[in-house]
Amino acid sequence: MLARAFGRGGPPVPVIGQGTWNVPLRGGARDEALRALRAGIELGMTHVDTAEMYGDGGAETFVGDAIAGLPRERLFLVSKVLPSNASYEGTIAACHASMRRMRVDYLDCFLLHWRGSEPLEETMRALERLAADGDIRSLGVSNFDVDDLRAAQALLRRERIACNQVLYHLGERTIEAHEIPFCRDAGIAIVAYTPFGRGDWRDGPGAAVLAKIAAAHAAGVHAVILAFLTRDEGTFAIPKAAQTAHAGENAAGGTIRLSAEEIAAVERAFPARRRRGGLPTL
Ligand code: NAP
Repeated sequence: MLARAFGRGGPPVPVIGQGTWNVPLRGGARDEALRALRAGIELGMTHVDTAEMYGDGGAETFVGDAIAGLPRERLFLVSKVLPSNASYEGTIAACHASMRRMRVDYLDCFLLHWRGSEPLEETMRALERLAADGDIRSLGVSNFDVDDLRAAQALLRRERIACNQVLYHLGERTIEAHEIPFCRDAGIAIVAYTPFGRGDWRDGPGAAVLAKIAAAHAAGVHAVILAFLTRDEGTFAIPKAAQTAHAGENAAGGTIRLSAEEIAAVERAFPARRRRGGLPTL
């Protein structure tokens, strides 16, 4: 599994991690999703993304169950505070609650889920406090456009923004002209969420392009998509898989090196559109 620095000066993190939004929280499906997440970790997808929002804390408890007994230093655990909780006191309380649910004594990165109405200054100050106290190893943001990123950067005194987690898939490539160049220059990692989009790539002429590349690498189409989204230095992806077979296929995405010709073929098959309006989000 390819790993790269998570933001300038950050630790090496595998390019493919694992999401936990909408993981099943009950019954046999939960057990299978736990097996999938553990299998993914064994295959090197040690970056696990969650949030207090997912299942009202249920996804964080799920992560806690999945990682129980694993050496903490092998993992890169990320969670997020909801904007409505992102006051100074609220951010600190939310982080501590996330840590309790995951049963860990620090997080590797803690993000503001999106920019809301609480003053950004308070959230950034709280994130720096959490870092100074050793509760988090780094801080980041999600769904921030370039203006939001500049505003957040200007408020930080000691820390830097490690990552910006944003929507990025074959049908939504507008970050390539906006947030990716800005983050590359600023040394901020880009983390692609919902990397499989709405699955539209299954239909239309692009499907054959993906299938041909997948066959050439003896891998699945999902692995090729993940390899494409993480082709640039500084980019990562966090697919969610509640089935063990899916986790295995996704992990392979972190071992594929696409050639320049293959990258150009995918770019042609799924052309980037011009952005109209703001940063797309889910
Ligand atoms: P996604 O990862 O693009 O897609 C998940 C869907 O793809 C699931 O139905 C999953 O099926 C399926 N899948 C995964 N691997 C597959 C494979 N190899 N073959 C076939 N199907 C496969 O969507 P997402 O969950 O929206 O995004 C990923 C993560 O990003 C989230 O879980 C969350 O952690 C994060 N996220 C963050 C934000 C934000 O605002 N910051 C927003 C959305 C998501 P199974 O589950 O049945 O395996």
